[in-house]
Amino acid sequence: MNSELLRKDFPILETKVNGHQIVYFDNAATTQRPLPVVNAVLDYVTHDNGNPHRGAHIFAISASEAYDTSKEVVRKFINAKSAGEIIYTRNTTESLNLVARSYGETHLHKGDHILITIAEHHSNLVTWQRVAEKTGAVLDYIYVDKKTGHFPEEELKKIDDPRVKILAFAEVSNVLGIDFDPKPLIQRAHAHGAVVVLDGAQSTPHKRVDVQDLDCDFFAFSGHKMCSMGGIGVLYGKEELLNDMEPFLMGGDMIDEVQEQKTTFADLPAKFEAGTQYVEGAVSLVAAIKYVESVGYDEIRAQERRLVTRCLEGMKKLPFIHIIGPTNPEEKEGLVAFEVEGVHPHDVAQILSAKGICIRTGHHCAEPLHHYLGINASCRASFYFYNTVDEVDYFLKELKDVRKVMG
Ligand code: PLP
Repeated sequence: MNSELLRKDFPILETKVNGHQIVYFDNAATTQRPLPVVNAVLDYVTHDNGNPHRGAHIFAISASEAYDTSKEVVRKFINAKSAGEIIYTRNTTESLNLVARSYGETHLHKGDHILITIAEHHSNLVTWQRVAEKTGAVLDYIYVDKKTGHFPEEELKKIDDPRVKILAFAEVSNVLGIDFDPKPLIQRAHAHGAVVVLDGAQSTPHKRVDVQDLDCDFFAFSGHKMCSMGGIGVLYGKEELLNDMEPFLMGGDMIDEVQEQKTTFADLPAKFEAGTQYVEGAVSLVAAIKYVESVGYDEIRAQERRLVTRCLEGMKKLPFIHIIGPTNPEEKEGLVAFEVEGVHPHDVAQILSAKGICIRTGHHCAEPLHHYLGINASCRASFYFYNTVDEVDYFLKELKDVRKVMG
């Protein structure tokens, strides 16, 4: 991969802070948007903008076309069976809320179990807490091994409990960064009929997703974590499940027929997409998918492996750095969370920020995981294909200095 060449598509990476070239290592929070994505949106709003599915004029038609054809691109991208299984939302969070509300709250009963992992992002945790509170279901956790960050078999056995009606977990944790195969877990849950919800927020940007091969029942991801504009996310659901669910929001375009006292709903996917659709978002997601695919997942993973390897090797030479989760680069998917002994994560971030380095600090919306690991907060460096080994070296050098500055 020629990261230097690709970087020309990301003018924001030319930003300077205090004379230092910016180093953007907060890609797990959001990625930067390349010019082809920006231009696709610009092109749409300057030539085709209208309100889709409402009206017969030229712009209503061009907007409808842009919106409807985008679904087929997303369908192909994650290999769903039909475009009707692709629901647009604002982001992963909204997708997971849709499943929790429209499936969880209506299909779970007192005594049923919802099983998630302790490593979940709040969007796949607080949502299920709420379902448990409303239905009387029990929210149970799979705990990770504190040293390795992996799920021990003893913990995975919880999946086999027939009381588990929903298994929900992230394909890649945004803190541990573990890359593991979710298929065996999905098969175990399906063996007794549980429904599996996969949070793909941190996997979709880095690895090819095939929802039919995974055989998950629901899959959620966000465009903005893979080069798209913000505000567009996707919920994939198996058609038979989506058909059996209540609409999430009520309003325009999600109806078939409305009478004074009764409404019948539109077919999929419109049933779950009430109100004026975010066509710019759909256009940008299509452009982002094309961009990411043109870079190529093999190339993306190879470059990220290079960066993670360099980062972990460098950190292991710094005795005051504690890496969270696995320390083997083969097991990491594009991110490294860590602590700097004796220095508060916010201080680390501020010192690095003055040098132009952007990392994330806090609990990364995974507070229960941090509590479980006995820490309040951590730092996280997360990479994407446009990052370079030189940037990692600069980051490691400045990280060494953080400790010096703080004594
Ligand atoms: N799940 C995981 C694993 C995440 O890392 C994130 C965001 O960082 C989310 C869900 C929520 O994504 P969004 O804020 O785009 O809804």
